[in-house]
Amino acid sequence: MKENIFQVPDRVNEPVKNYLKGSEERKNVSETYHSMFSSKINIPLYIGEEEIHTKETKDINPPHDKNKIVGTFSVCNSNHVENAINNCLEIKDSWTNTPWKQRAAIFLKAAELIAGPYRAKINAATMIGQSKNIFQAEIDAACEFVDFLKFNIIYMSEIYNEQPLTVGNVSNSLEYRPLEGFVYAITPFNFTAIGGNLCASAALMGNVVLWKPSDHQIYSAKVIMDVFNEAGLPKGVINMITGDPEMITNIALENFNLSGIHFTGSTHVFKEIWSKVGANISKYKDYPRIVGETGGKDFIVSHPSADSLVVSTAIVRGAFEYQGQKCSAASRVYIPASKSIQIFENLKNQVSTIKMGSPIDFENFMTAVIHQRSYNKIVSYIEKAKNDEDSKILIGGDYDDSKGYFISPTIIITTNPKCATMTQEIFGPVVTIYVYPDNEWKKTLQLVDQTSDYALTGAFISNEKETIDYALKHLRYSAGNFYINDKPSGAVVGQQPFGGSRASGTNDKAGSKLNLLRWVSPRLIKENFNPPTDYPYPYMT
Ligand code: NAD
Repeated sequence: MKENIFQVPDRVNEPVKNYLKGSEERKNVSETYHSMFSSKINIPLYIGEEEIHTKETKDINPPHDKNKIVGTFSVCNSNHVENAINNCLEIKDSWTNTPWKQRAAIFLKAAELIAGPYRAKINAATMIGQSKNIFQAEIDAACEFVDFLKFNIIYMSEIYNEQPLTVGNVSNSLEYRPLEGFVYAITPFNFTAIGGNLCASAALMGNVVLWKPSDHQIYSAKVIMDVFNEAGLPKGVINMITGDPEMITNIALENFNLSGIHFTGSTHVFKEIWSKVGANISKYKDYPRIVGETGGKDFIVSHPSADSLVVSTAIVRGAFEYQGQKCSAASRVYIPASKSIQIFENLKNQVSTIKMGSPIDFENFMTAVIHQRSYNKIVSYIEKAKNDEDSKILIGGDYDDSKGYFISPTIIITTNPKCATMTQEIFGPVVTIYVYPDNEWKKTLQLVDQTSDYALTGAFISNEKETIDYALKHLRYSAGNFYINDKPSGAVVGQQPFGGSRASGTNDKAGSKLNLLRWVSPRLIKENFNPPTDYPYPYMT
């Protein structure tokens, strides 16, 4: 059926389920969690028609129960990487020529599968493998992923609809060609939806993709591959491989046919990738598109007019949800001296009620951080702060990795606004507060802007309109996502397109048309219905 126009889905976000006691969804996800937790899965490499189980494997351990093994995943060698790339390229022609509404239908089907029959499974995999509580898993693995898949189809149709003028006897059109080679997607541990979206968005636009997920998101990555398969995505459009990230990346970045890189992860890895692309630039057929969303040092600034409870709630939710492991997590806060005692009091009250433990205990607001390396890094920042004469621990500062990687929600107060915990990305449940004199709030904005290399998210909390306008102007380049009277995290697809600049990335706004534009290379086609038959122009006679 080629002779029809396809209606894109409605612009409606996937409703977030509540998982109340006694609800069907709570029962489903709990049963699924227990069954997955007590069995063992073996995750292969996905290369075309083949699911390859390698001899070398790595264990999958839930961060909240580090000695438990819930499965293994295969570790690839260099031949697998080459094969995966070649296999993608073999199927490229047929995928590129698949009508866009058929591509859309596959990803719409994937969205339906996640919203329905796979919802409990993808949430449980995210709870087990990435230690998200049910709410954090639901807003990420189920809702955000469904939203990415559906909204991207709307954006795709908007892009295709953008066409030049057809005037007189000349017809013009833009053909939004997929990139000529393959796209390499490299994804982080902290969002299941990002893992799925970084490969699906490029594939939706007609590209073939080599996907390297994080070792620490591998359980939910497998569910994503199952969903794509069941939705009818031809084998080889997205090949998923796991193994030594540097080895895989080096091979991908040496390839003549590399046309795009879709990365989310830490800033230093992205910079390394960019340098390698620069060094290899004469090896490629194309200039590879480089899209990278990276680290953050996200701020909350409270104006003296702000409500103290609004400020403390933004800090607690912004800094401690998912153990502070969101790129958008609040990690440096500026509060006025006049409100500091009240805000500290509120924070102590709120944090004292936070429960931490396994994600399957639904009372827990926090669970474990992702792995030993991350735990050690976060602990070292806490210990340094304890010994730093400019800083003191207001709340928390405890940690315990005997069962899993648990770190208490920690609030540091500092008199040095440029200390390590105010400037460096920690990626854990640690937030540092600097108290400024009330009459220096404008000067403090300058400090906020100049304190960190990053510019991902930030929040300004105030009850005076003109101060908000002032902050918007003076923090213009300090954050790609700027929140007024809210926490700096929790972007929703279609509502708050996400991304930052400076050291935080290329700001191509995941969950928007801007991102999809990076995965096409438009061809202009002009057709003349009445071509001239002689060369002179009228002015010459
Ligand atoms: P990471 O940089 O350690 O890993 C990201 C990916 O890169 C993984 O697949 C990993 O295996 C791979 N990788 C690691 N080292 C590599 C190397 N030397 N060469 C090639 N690939 C390599 O990041 P992470 O710990 O998984 O995720 C946390 C980071 O991601 C934080 O810095 C966070 O701010 C950032 N993040 C940013 C956004 C955003 O939208 N800006 C969203 C999520 C996460």
